[in-house]
Amino acid sequence: MPRQFFVGGNFKLNPATRVAKQNLINILNKADIDSNVEVVIAPPAIYLIPVLEAVRKDIKVSAQNSYIKKSGAFTGEISPAQLVDAGIPYVILGHSERRTLFHETSDLVAEKTRVALDEGLSVILCVGETLAEREANKTAQVVQDQLKPVVALLKPEDWKKVVIAYEPVWAIGTGKVATSAQAQEAHADIRAYLKQAVTPEVAESTRIIYGGSVTAANSKELATQPDVDGFLVGGASLKPEFVDIINSTR
Ligand code: PGA
Repeated sequence: MPRQFFVGGNFKLNPATRVAKQNLINILNKADIDSNVEVVIAPPAIYLIPVLEAVRKDIKVSAQNSYIKKSGAFTGEISPAQLVDAGIPYVILGHSERRTLFHETSDLVAEKTRVALDEGLSVILCVGETLAEREANKTAQVVQDQLKPVVALLKPEDWKKVVIAYEPVWAIGTGKVATSAQAQEAHADIRAYLKQAVTPEVAESTRIIYGGSVTAANSKELATQPDVDGFLVGGASLKPEFVDIINSTR
């Protein structure tokens, strides 16, 4: 079965107001969106429920993070169980901003992934190398090292609910998008790793999406690559051009 194209919008800590949030939703609600594409938007936690209520039903809603516990004395955290209870189907885990600014290790990201899947969430799992790592030719190794603890905790059937987002750190928010050849090479390496470390079926069916300065101007070409199964979009997901990115394969 061909892999369904997937486009995620990671709003990060934006927009700053409820009015701006509603404007974004209004644009999406009126847009002509390719029905073959799975579209997921990830607003800040405080807007998850209002966005879920306001957005058209063919667009899914994702959290940007979740914790490893169901409930308890963990100030500031949100649990996968609470997300499921609120009707949220997806969570982004292991984003490079979480890894860098909030010191999340690959082991913690793997544990979060395990717990989120156990609660019934689907996971957008982010991996990617820094510029120094790429320049040292370590991209494939770094990404494998990030995936390894996840592979260790997941059974093959769990991967049905995981989308891998390859997001080179040097491309995130910098305007410096990976070339389609760079993206294709990294995605093919991830798929080869899944084939060897999990199963050939999981490697074939798992969606691997690209993130890092995706815009309407570069998404069509990136989407032609055989192992690029969609995008995780930051800055451009806050603009009307997000609709064009969703429709990249039309
Ligand atoms: P960007 O962010 O599109 O603004 O580069 C992508 C991401 O961090 O998911």
